[in-house]
Amino acid sequence: MIKGKSAIVTGSTSGIGLAIAQRLASAGVNIMLNGFGDKGEIDKLTEDLSTEFSVKSHYSGADITKPQEIEAMIKQAESAFGRLDILVNNAGIQFTALVEEFPPEKWDAILATNLSSVFHGIRYALPGMKKNNFGRIINIASAHGLVASKQKSAYVAAKHGVLGLTKVVALENAERNITCNAICPGWVLTPLVEKQIRDMGVRDKISFEDAKIKLLLEKQPSLRFIKPEDIGDLVIFLCSEAGESMTGAALSMDGGWTAQ
Ligand code: NAD
Repeated sequence: MIKGKSAIVTGSTSGIGLAIAQRLASAGVNIMLNGFGDKGEIDKLTEDLSTEFSVKSHYSGADITKPQEIEAMIKQAESAFGRLDILVNNAGIQFTALVEEFPPEKWDAILATNLSSVFHGIRYALPGMKKNNFGRIINIASAHGLVASKQKSAYVAAKHGVLGLTKVVALENAERNITCNAICPGWVLTPLVEKQIRDMGVRDKISFEDAKIKLLLEKQPSLRFIKPEDIGDLVIFLCSEAGESMTGAALSMDGGWTAQ
């Protein structure tokens, strides 16, 4: 029974994280939102979750590049909900450049946001999960956790790292009812990808719509963007009783990208 459980979804003020938070709330899960954005809009998102789905909802403004802020966010959730059952490590950033031109500060920021934050979130969440003998840790990796693309050294390295970390955490907790899995989406039309489409449009002197098609043609055989709510449905499965035996997996949801 997933109803009545409690979750943190990092980076849930936008895109995939927001869709996951909404899907979990619709299944009766109490939610702690996290991420950057306009205070008024975030207050409304938080309120809407509790009024629409009759769950408790809170917000943490933790900057997940700062381990002590992650620790405070986990404590805040444990105290607001009584326990933390589900941790979705979703927040992520992107930057593209050839490796020899890649600004070292961008490398550090991507590794901190997309990989180290996952390590810190897990290490702070696990003691409570072990005490309850229940936990579902879901890391939003990427097709780029399995295969590479040019100009994405930091992102690809971080996402491959997330898959390795996922396997270790799964093994260390395999005998408990604590699972750790990674979801590897292909292209999802969110602000993170819209920026890459705009950049491609400028670089190749084509419209936004043509750049969208070009992006899909390069990688995603379905020629359709992955729907954020479909990723939310996969999260629901992983959190369910039926998800108990699935651990340490890298689950592709990528329209065939990595089948090629
Ligand atoms: P997005 O830009 O729409 O959302 C990113 C979220 O992370 C936002 O809420 C933002 O505020 C938050 N965030 C960024 N830095 C943060 C920080 N330091 N502390 C706290 N929050 C922070 O992006 P998205 O496309 O929804 O991406 C979500 C995840 O999915 C990322 O890990 C991304 O790598 C992964 N992903 C995205 C795609 C895609 O095509 N969009 C594909 C595969 C994987």
